[in-house]
Amino acid sequence: MSYRKRKPFKACKKCNALVPHEEVQCPICGSRTFSDDWEGLVIIISSDSKAAQILNKTKPHMYAIKVR
Ligand SMILES: [Zn+2]
Repeated sequence: MSYRKRKPFKACKKCNALVPHEEVQCPICGSRTFSDDWEGLVIIISSDSKAAQILNKTKPHMYAIKVR
């Protein structure tokens, strides 16, 4: 029997923001579509940081790199 540990966060399918499972709406873009199948994690602290520019994220938050 295979058992896969549940990730502590789910990822917004629209903007890749990572939010707790109990969240019903994405605090970043307002979407209600989430995925448990995501990879990588990046934390944007400042909107004018290099990482924010590369990922094209404008709001400081925690994002998944890849969402399926
Ligand atoms: Zn979102």
